[in-house]
Amino acid sequence: MTASAAPHRLIKRATGDWEVVIGMEIHAQVTSNSKLFSGASTAFGGEPNSHVSLVDAAMPGMLPVINEECVRQAVLTGLGLNAKINLRSVFDRKNYFYPDSPQGYQISQYKSPIVGEGEVSLELDGGRSVTIGIERLHLEQDAGKLLHDQSPTMSYVDLNRCGVALMEIVSKPDIRDAEQAKAYVTKLRSILRYLGTCDGDMEKGNLRADVNVSVRRYGETAFGTRCEIKNMNSVNFIGQAIEYEARRQIEIIEDGGTIDQETRLFDPNKGETRSMRSKEEAHDYRYFPDPDLLPLEFSQAFVDGLKAQLPELPDQKRSRFITGFGLSPYDASVLVAERESAEFYETVLSGLADKARDGKLAANWVINELFGRLNKESVAIAASPVSAQQLAAIVDLIGEGTISGKIAKDLFEIVWQEGGDPRALVETRGMKQVTDLGAIEKVVDDIIAANPDKVEQAKAKPQLVGWFVGQVMKSSGGKANPQAVNDLLKSKLGI
Ligand code: ADP
Ligand code: MG
Repeated sequence: MTASAAPHRLIKRATGDWEVVIGMEIHAQVTSNSKLFSGASTAFGGEPNSHVSLVDAAMPGMLPVINEECVRQAVLTGLGLNAKINLRSVFDRKNYFYPDSPQGYQISQYKSPIVGEGEVSLELDGGRSVTIGIERLHLEQDAGKLLHDQSPTMSYVDLNRCGVALMEIVSKPDIRDAEQAKAYVTKLRSILRYLGTCDGDMEKGNLRADVNVSVRRYGETAFGTRCEIKNMNSVNFIGQAIEYEARRQIEIIEDGGTIDQETRLFDPNKGETRSMRSKEEAHDYRYFPDPDLLPLEFSQAFVDGLKAQLPELPDQKRSRFITGFGLSPYDASVLVAERESAEFYETVLSGLADKARDGKLAANWVINELFGRLNKESVAIAASPVSAQQLAAIVDLIGEGTISGKIAKDLFEIVWQEGGDPRALVETRGMKQVTDLGAIEKVVDDIIAANPDKVEQAKAKPQLVGWFVGQVMKSSGGKANPQAVNDLLKSKLGI
């Protein structure tokens, strides 16, 4: 098969086509006020060690107590990923020494996670879509943070983050190229944010990914040996790291070498991955069920209760926008990608006089005019100078024929700069579209009379009517109704 026949991108080499295989482990910080097993705050940015309970500091004899809110959030997330919820799961100790983890082990879930198999569907360029399997989701504790810049001779430790709940979401090795990998992280992040179970703030490290990459010749069924690129917290870097890592592996294999399973780090400055530790140095974590915690058990009724609370998720919202308002799949994807943009669009919709008529027009205005402008000026949607109500009013004015799309852009500009009620502005600034045929006719007649040569030309070449339309629009200050102008001109010119 050739690269163009594959549903995903292959890497073409002189020796043939290569396929990339990717599986991801995403760590998502659970949105909760307190930690997974203690009452300490999860607030970001506190003084070092100001959010540390005796449990988090691992004082002898302290007992962990499961935070029900974190369990709810994990179950909600599982439901949002169409996954199997396990009514019984087990917390295990994953034993390793690290100076930012005073317990000497991490409480995690190993053989019996809270959530089992699920799936996430991705929309890709060109209307393609692909479904990525989820292997599992489990709950575990986050570690603290070492501070190396506080003293020339010592490292300090900040335990504020220690014990905060993380959801580790493990994908199947179903991802086939960098584009899919980026779409996967973006989609997962979007789902978590809709659910309100993780804020998805990658800059703060609240969502980070370990990316497992292997390669094989296209058409082979066995997987190659993988390398794991740790702790990626940018969607673009994930894409770059995969591109680099896949080529590195292909070159080694083509040169007759073999891939060593290892953990690697991505260096964003060089755009390269480098070895961190090999499989031989990998830990043996000696997992065993945490004797301080009972197995986690809840009823199907608890799960059903949460299911009933699930918000509308991006996929559902997207199809509702497509079928309800005739949006293109692409536009619908743009609107639902971020919860805030979907909410903004929905508020515009609810402010419209005629949703069925103008829903699609409203989407164009939100995406092209508003988002375009917000992006250009680096303004967040929450701080938009044009509110959803104002934008709905502008769209109403176009939809009902009071102003043309062109005048609407001027109106948008005024509202952006000065604020105000769009409908009142149209009145006070005389922006109304002229649909009064008498007034338009006068202008049409004047222009026809002044340009006899063009009239002759237009008779021979009807598309020259466009020139007349332009002139009439210009002399009416853009306020003439373009359709009326067109009709009048055609009948007057006899074309
Ligand atoms: P471990 O327990 O060592 O972390 P797992 O089998 O749980 O390994 O897999 C971890 C991640 O690696 C999963 O996301 C999985 O999809 C992915 N993965 C497994 N095998 C491969 C492979 N050959 N190529 C790419 N990714 C893989
Ligand atoms: Mg792993």
